[in-house]
Amino acid sequence: MPSRPPVFRFAPSPNGRLHLGHAYSALLNAEMAGRMHGRLLVRIEDIDPVRCRPDLAEAILADLRWLGLRFEEPVRRQSDHLPAYATALASLRTRGLVYPCLCSRKEIAQASLGRDPDGAPLYPGTCCGRADLAERIAAGAPHAWRLDMRAARAACPGSLRVDTVDAAGTPGDRPADPERWGDAVLGRKDVPTSYHLAVVLDDAAQGVTHVVRGQDLDAATDLHVLLQRLLGLPSPRYHHHALLRDPEGEKLAKSRGSLALADLRAQGVTAAEIRRRLGFP
Ligand code: GLU
Repeated sequence: MPSRPPVFRFAPSPNGRLHLGHAYSALLNAEMAGRMHGRLLVRIEDIDPVRCRPDLAEAILADLRWLGLRFEEPVRRQSDHLPAYATALASLRTRGLVYPCLCSRKEIAQASLGRDPDGAPLYPGTCCGRADLAERIAAGAPHAWRLDMRAARAACPGSLRVDTVDAAGTPGDRPADPERWGDAVLGRKDVPTSYHLAVVLDDAAQGVTHVVRGQDLDAATDLHVLLQRLLGLPSPRYHHHALLRDPEGEKLAKSRGSLALADLRAQGVTAAEIRRRLGFP
């Protein structure tokens, strides 16, 4: 049987314009996909109804086309799939693997005893196992859904590993330590998913075999492989590339005034120049 081509994806969030760091990630996906005779998908990660905007999603796709990226259509938009995320969350609930949480950010920050790999306060477990919350929830109190990490690890005993691939395509693996995320949010107060749940469901739904993204998401992969195991989903191979930094050594971000591709284009910089500057032919 002929083997299927590998599937890569670039998954931007439309909460700002693309900058050079995004361009690097997109071009690296395209370059690896080309070298491995794979397919390239783009996915719009727009579950956040406050920060994401449809016009920014369109602008991102236009920037990618301008850059010369060729990707398959139609582009998947996460906001079109909220019912599927809700179904997966409900199945975790039925299995006793998530619990509702009514805590505010402030309450969590005050009671937390540590930090997760992103530097956010670790959830202290306040709402775990509390039967007395049902009445407030039935009365409409906003609540998130958190993974019960202890129950999740009991459901997936043994060691977990992340399958990796380097930029040259050489496979490898490393141990995963999802516990360092604590009882992570899988369903937000405003939408029936979180980044972590949606990303593993979509990578599986789209048949993604190779996830190429920035180093800032390396630690999150530990949680992703646990969720894949819990949900019976295949695990892709992961490559986390170094982040582009500004001359001060800070990672590029619109919030720090990093130039958007659109700004560079307006200054007369060509797509070919950007590709060359980022090390792509
Ligand atoms: N949407 C995420 C971001 O823009 C990327 C998620 C991923 O590649 O898994 O940072």
